[in-house]
Amino acid sequence: MRNPNLRLNDLVVRGKKGREESKLMNVKVPANVLARIDRVAANLGATKTEVVIAILNEGLETAEDELRGWKPPPKPVVPKERRCTVKGCDRERVAKGLCATHYQAQRRARAA
Ligand SMILES: [Zn+2]
Repeated sequence: MRNPNLRLNDLVVRGKKGREESKLMNVKVPANVLARIDRVAANLGATKTEVVIAILNEGLETAEDELRGWKPPPKPVVPKERRCTVKGCDRERVAKGLCATHYQAQRRARAA
C-alpha cells in the first residue's frame, strides 16, 4: 500500500507516493460490492486495494464527523438487590438468584 491517506480524488489526480506500513486484513466482501470495486478501479486505472483504501478513508472521515461529540448511552445500573449473586457479576438476576448467563452455566454443569 503506497498512501494510507488515499482519497478517490487522489486516484483521479495521482499524487505523491511513498512506502507506508500496511497490514493484511482478511475481509469477506459480498460479490456485488467486489464487482462495483472492480468497475471503479478499472474506470480510475487504479488497483482494487487503492480504491478500497480511498473509500475506507472517506467513509471513516464521514463516520468520525458524524460521531463527533457522541457518547454511547450509559449502561443501565441494576439495583444491588436485583443483581446476580455470583461475585463480580452485575447483571440482573432472572432465576434462583442468578443472571441468565450464570443460571444457564449452572444448568449445563448439572446436566453434565
Ligand atoms: Zn451472573
